[in-house]
Amino acid sequence: MSTVTSGEIDAITGDGRERNFAIYVLSFLLWPVILSTCIYMTALGLAADHAALYFNITYICLALGLFTLERLLPHERKWLRNDGQMLADLAHTLLNKGFVQVLVVVGLAIGVAEVAASKGGGFWPAHWPIAFQIMLGLVIAEAGLYTAHRVAHEWSFLWRFHAVHHSAPRLWFFNTGRFHVVDTVTSILLSQPLLFLAGAPSEIFIWVTSITAFIGMLTHCNIEMRFGPLNYVFNTPAVHRWHHSRIPAEGNSNYGENLMLFDVLLRTFYCPKRRPPANIGINDPMPTKFLGQVAHPFRKDQSTLAASRTAIDSH
Ligand SMILES: [Zn+2]
Ligand SMILES: [Zn+2]
Repeated sequence: MSTVTSGEIDAITGDGRERNFAIYVLSFLLWPVILSTCIYMTALGLAADHAALYFNITYICLALGLFTLERLLPHERKWLRNDGQMLADLAHTLLNKGFVQVLVVVGLAIGVAEVAASKGGGFWPAHWPIAFQIMLGLVIAEAGLYTAHRVAHEWSFLWRFHAVHHSAPRLWFFNTGRFHVVDTVTSILLSQPLLFLAGAPSEIFIWVTSITAFIGMLTHCNIEMRFGPLNYVFNTPAVHRWHHSRIPAEGNSNYGENLMLFDVLLRTFYCPKRRPPANIGINDPMPTKFLGQVAHPFRKDQSTLAASRTAIDSH
């Protein structure tokens, strides 16, 4: 039997402390560093005139990076377990991503942004530095995204569709795109026209769409990270985990897609100091297969379920 000397114990705990400190520092750096890298890649893509190609490469690298980090530094170890819904998650993602990219590409190809800009969209401050224009684009889009998301929670008819997203039993990068396609279309219809009306140029549409995709995947990832004051500015995983709570009083909060601006202003921001719930999802039944989930909101008995949730929420 081998014995461990006190010197060896000191060395072990010393190493452990250093490792813990390194992980602690890393947990603050990960989110901003990953997002900045994605933003840098988007800038390179736009400069090279290959925005879609660079976006897709960055998005795949982001997914692979988050997959690896979820295994190295998981926030909830039990969320690593297979929930049997990966095919459904993938099918929703492909349908939604395909739909959004087709809308953006077709929109750019027919020059919707340029036409809108020339017709009454004159107030867009094209002379501002690009970073400020992107921030303005994000705030304008957020007004629509926040409204769409809040209405999806508060209007029982739309909740039926949004419930597909909330029925996920765990959060990880892979179910970022788990939205009913009707839910996706509603948020696009409420956010994109605002940018058109503002006269935002094509480049701003690409920036806003790309940043929304990057922040969205980061928001759902199951990685142990810390955010400090960033929680009040961006839709971080810490803030979004509360949004997935089973308890409507907790989940009916943090509606921001990218920014928490409207949640802070309209008092729907919720991020207490304690650990967010690991047992997430909805209390009503939801099929686990893709086609079942797509069809589920259209079933007749859904109206009573959605109404019951609204009644619970109002208490
Ligand atoms: Zn929601
Ligand atoms: Zn979510």
